[in-house]
Amino acid sequence: MRAMVVERLGPPDVMELREVPRPEPGPGEVRLRVEAVGINFADVLAVAGEYLTRTRVPYTPGMEFAGVVDAVGEGVQGVEVGTRVASLGGRGGLAEYALSPAAALIPVPQGLSGAQAAAFPVSYFTAYHGLKTLGRGQPGEWVLVQAAAGALGTASIQLAKAMGMHVVAMASTEEKLGLARDLGADVTLLQDDPDRVKKVRAAAGGTGVPLILEVVGGARFQESLEMAANLGRVIVIGNASREEANLRPVELMKRNVTVTGLWLSSLMPDAELTRQAAQALTPLVASGQVTPQVGPTYGLAESARAFQDILDRKTTGKVIIEP
Ligand code: NDP
Repeated sequence: MRAMVVERLGPPDVMELREVPRPEPGPGEVRLRVEAVGINFADVLAVAGEYLTRTRVPYTPGMEFAGVVDAVGEGVQGVEVGTRVASLGGRGGLAEYALSPAAALIPVPQGLSGAQAAAFPVSYFTAYHGLKTLGRGQPGEWVLVQAAAGALGTASIQLAKAMGMHVVAMASTEEKLGLARDLGADVTLLQDDPDRVKKVRAAAGGTGVPLILEVVGGARFQESLEMAANLGRVIVIGNASREEANLRPVELMKRNVTVTGLWLSSLMPDAELTRQAAQALTPLVASGQVTPQVGPTYGLAESARAFQDILDRKTTGKVIIEP
C-alpha cells in the first residue's frame, strides 16, 4: 500500500510517499481502509519535531482519520467490519490502510461524509472542552476565538453559538473573517488591527471578555491577558506563532485572571469527560446545528503541500487528505 513516511524530522517536504506492507492489526487493534485524514496544526509540529511530545521516527503522520473498519485484532469487541469510524490513533493515518487501538475509535455521528468525519473529533472535542469543561462558558457570555477560520476556530464559533454565547472572532484576513461571520461570529476583528485590545474589550461591553481560547501564543498571549475581563478565564490551547510567551504571574492578579492549559490527548482517556463531550456534540451534529468545516482537500502525494499551506496560513476549515 502507499503511505507517507518520515525518517528525519523537519519541514513538510521531509515526508516521502513510499510503498510499504499493509499493517496487520495486533491484539486490541483494528485496521481501517482510510477514507480521509484530518490534518491538524499538531501534525505539522510533530513532523517538525516541535510538538509537546517527542516524535519517534520512522513514522507515518496522520493522528486523526476516518475510514471503514477492514479487519479487527484479537480481543476487540463491538466493532463491526464495514462500519465507518473515526480514529484518534495518534499516527499512521497518511496511508491507504491504518491501524488504530480500538479504544481510540470515535463513533461517527450519522450523516457525516468520510471527510466530515475526519474533520470532527479533534476540533470539536477540543472546542467543547475549551468552552465548557475548562472554560465553564455560560449562555450570554462573550468568548474570544482566535484563528477563527481555522479548523478549531470554526468549530469553536459554531459550538459557542449553539451554547448561546456571544463570539468575538479574530483572524488574519478579511476573507477569513467573512467565514467567521457566516458561522455566526457577532464581532470580527483583523488579528493585526492596531486597536485590537481596545476593540475586543469594547465588544464585550467595555469590561473585557470573560473567556478566551488562546491558540496563537507568543506576544499575543500577553495581549489575551489585557483583553480578559475581571475574573476572566484564558484557556491555553495552542502556540501557532511558535514564539515564546512571557508570563509574569503577578500580571494575573490585576484582573483575577485564571490561565488553564488544555491538551486533548490527556483529556480523551478520561472516559467520563469524553462521554459528556460526545453526548453534547452528537445531537448538535445530527441536527445540523454544527457542521464540520471541510477545508481544502489534497491527495496523499500532495501531503507536503497541504502541511505547508497550513504553515503559510492559506487554509480555512479542516485540511483533508484523501489517500
Ligand atoms: P488551524 O486550521 O487553525 O490553522 C492554524 C491557524 O493558526 C492558521 O490558519 C492561522 O490563522 C493561525 N496562526 C496564527 N498565527 C500564526 C503564525 N504565526 N503562523 C501560522 N499560523 C498562525 O489549525 P488547528 O485547528 O489544527 O489548530 C489551531 C490551534 O489550536 C493550533 O495552535 C493548535 O496547535 C491548537 N490545537 C490544540 C489542541 C489541544 O489539544 N491543545 C487541539 C487542536 C488544536 P490566521 O491566519 O487567521 O491567524
